[in-house]
Amino acid sequence: MKSIYDYTLEELKEEVKPAFRAKQIYNWLYKKYASSFDEMKNLPKDLIENLKANYDIAIMDVVRKEVSTDGSIKYLFKLRDGHTVEAVLLLMKKKKINEDGVVERSEKYTVCVSSQVGCKIGCTFCLTAKGGFVRNLTVGEYIAQIVNLKRDNNIPDNKAVNIVYMGMGEPLDNYKNFVSAVKIFSLEEGLSINRRRQTVSTSGLSSKIVKLGEENLGIQLAISLHAVDDELRSELIPMNKAYNIQSIIDAVKAFPVDARKKVMFEYLVIKGKNDSIQAAQKLIQLLNGIKSKVNLIYFNPYPGTTYERPSVETMTKFKDYLIDKGLLCTIRESKGLDISAACGQLKEKDVNGDS
Ligand code: SAH
Ligand code: SF4
Repeated sequence: MKSIYDYTLEELKEEVKPAFRAKQIYNWLYKKYASSFDEMKNLPKDLIENLKANYDIAIMDVVRKEVSTDGSIKYLFKLRDGHTVEAVLLLMKKKKINEDGVVERSEKYTVCVSSQVGCKIGCTFCLTAKGGFVRNLTVGEYIAQIVNLKRDNNIPDNKAVNIVYMGMGEPLDNYKNFVSAVKIFSLEEGLSINRRRQTVSTSGLSSKIVKLGEENLGIQLAISLHAVDDELRSELIPMNKAYNIQSIIDAVKAFPVDARKKVMFEYLVIKGKNDSIQAAQKLIQLLNGIKSKVNLIYFNPYPGTTYERPSVETMTKFKDYLIDKGLLCTIRESKGLDISAACGQLKEKDVNGDS
């Protein structure tokens, strides 16, 4: 059975007649976060029965929820077939209330969503890769992650959130569903999440980056670069043998970037592997001519890995070198680092902050 979250408004209008009913359903789903068709009180009984018989609305359950001291919340969702994926609500900025009790600034949230159960890319530093690839998430499963998070945290429908596609799996390897999700998220009658507020992180499937660029969706791009020479990059990201560094740089150069934005290059720093000043030098050469910013990520160790986390000093030196040479560079803030969970990578998420 298809999920009700799989449909754009236009598609739903084809399914449900008269068409204004589709708009009402959209309102229930995305403004009121209804979790059952029975809640949709302004729909006629027979339509509700019809919806129940033909569309699934409860497509995932929260099976675990962990709150970090910084206010970020990590969710583990169980899908209909029993597989689980994670999503994280990141509290980027806390609410600010002045002495008179007036809210000066409301919270700023970013939601990190998953794309697949498992992953095919096989990065040697990544926990998600260890279990191999199971399946792509459906469009509805993309959408339901955010609806669940907004519902569970009473985030008002008109409160803007940012999305980062940085959870489990490779979004560009689930291309069609990912693109549909971007479009549905941005619908004004739905969650209304502006495309500029959506950032896709990819391990570098260059052909898909080119394709995505041609679609001109208006979303932000983040590249998991992690290494500056192909030998090391292929060790870390085996897929690099098929899509090497130069092919990624060429694809990025062709990608339409909003005049006010930059392409983010994520650089996972592993002690003794890619943390030298020579690597930093090479990085500067590679990014020459690209409107870019670099986000350094501490490798997050997990049991069984031989890679190690770099020292604060090494990270700072690397960063200072880049900044000194005129590159924009930040070290990823460790949001929710105290949340214990299986997936190493979701523990540290930054955002490219559309603030
Ligand atoms: N597949 C996409 C998006 C999901 S991975 C991609 O690779 O970009 C999201 C981020 O988590 C990537 O930048 C990845 O390099 C990082 N990551 C994976 N394992 C990690 C670990 N052990 N420690 C820190 N970051 C990790
Ligand atoms: Fe897949 Fe990204 Fe993990 Fe690599 S880092 S295995 S691409 S999820």
